[in-house]
Amino acid sequence: MVLRAGIVVTGTEVLTGRVADRNGPWLAEELRRLGVDVGHVVVVGDRPEDLRAALSFLAGIGTDLLITSGGLGPTADDLTAQVVAEFQGRPSAVDPALEQRVGAVVERLMARRGWRADPEATAAGVRKQAAVPTGATVLEPVGTAPGLVVPPAEGRDGPPVVVLPGPPGELQGMWPDAVAAPQVRALLEGQPELHQRTLRLWGTLEAQLAATLREVEPELGGLEITTCLREGELEIVTRFAPDAQPAYNRLAEVVAQRYAATLFSTGPTLDELVTGALADRGLRIATAESCTGGLLAARLTARPGASASVLGGVTAYADDAKRELLGVPAELLAEHGAVSPEVARALADGARARFGADVGVGITGIAGPGGGTESKPVGTVHVCVAGPEGARERALRLPGSRTVVRERSVTMAMHLLRELLLGGPPA
Ligand code: ATP
Ligand code: MG
Repeated sequence: MVLRAGIVVTGTEVLTGRVADRNGPWLAEELRRLGVDVGHVVVVGDRPEDLRAALSFLAGIGTDLLITSGGLGPTADDLTAQVVAEFQGRPSAVDPALEQRVGAVVERLMARRGWRADPEATAAGVRKQAAVPTGATVLEPVGTAPGLVVPPAEGRDGPPVVVLPGPPGELQGMWPDAVAAPQVRALLEGQPELHQRTLRLWGTLEAQLAATLREVEPELGGLEITTCLREGELEIVTRFAPDAQPAYNRLAEVVAQRYAATLFSTGPTLDELVTGALADRGLRIATAESCTGGLLAARLTARPGASASVLGGVTAYADDAKRELLGVPAELLAEHGAVSPEVARALADGARARFGADVGVGITGIAGPGGGTESKPVGTVHVCVAGPEGARERALRLPGSRTVVRERSVTMAMHLLRELLLGGPPA
């Protein structure tokens, strides 16, 4: 039996989308590594009755471990520790030693930032943060708020609740202590790790893959397979306990056989493949972008260490910029127009030449919503990648909004780079 955990993320700012949840996904991934399956991530606002209801729901469906994030601050709207203590039937009392430690941290913090506050209000906040349910394990503060592991009261059934702070840096810093707490360690002991593997296809439809999976289903016992289509990429994520490895091997074999023309990765992301290939081969790259406005350069430089391969890029929006900064011939622009395969090629060559790069990329197109013509409607994009062993180019007619056209063009450029550098399925 695989252990199941539930996560309750608190915070009205997360519920409303003002802050994107970074704790639920992070915790789910950490738990997976420990062999724990996450059944639910529940987001609730800063209302005690909603937090209580979420805890009851998760405990009620037999969840083995509950984790909360957020609401541990010193102010009145930070209620998590109190609600969890009541939920587990454990009265809280101030731990004087903890009160001193939290007080010292707060004092240092205020001194460093030059803040002044009413000493009584500050002391009340510290006292609140040092309230510990009887029988709970305290997790030392990474910021100011201590975390807790709160087991159910003696004689009660139910999962322990791990209470963690909201700021992602604090939550992540506290996690090793949470895992090492006696009540959590006891649960995790002897759990086999859950493996997770990813296969990536470029240009296969989800429905087609689903039919294949149904066909071989009897051979895939013990695998939890999820498929997701994103930006034209079909991602197959499979999770399994170590004893289901043969079933996974069978799945990987079937996909490799039937989808040889679209399977481009048995693990790494597209970006990892491209940047890895550049680094492995010691190749340097430069970009010349029009309609994507530097998005490709941003993507290529997103990873640390990009400076080993990326020389630079030019965002050449105006024709003059294409001529002067990248040496695109004026006649070419006049004859074919800026949005043409010829200009995409000239941009790629220009980037290579001007930066002294091994690989150059040119992108030119009409992102819309205006600017389209009958022969070159919105969504017309030309992408070219040129390297030491020749060039690859694509003429695209992309549907969708300006944002979609721009992002999709960049993804296509990445696939062309992958094809140029690594071979494999065509972009
Ligand atoms: P504090 O002592 O800072 O109040 P806290 O434990 O009470 O800590 P919250 O008040 O819930 O935490 O959140 C503090 C800040 O941390 C939020 O404003 C938000 O910026 C960030 N944060 C909280 N929860 C999340 C989350 N799930 N994902 C990303 N950021 C979060
Ligand atoms: Mg708070």
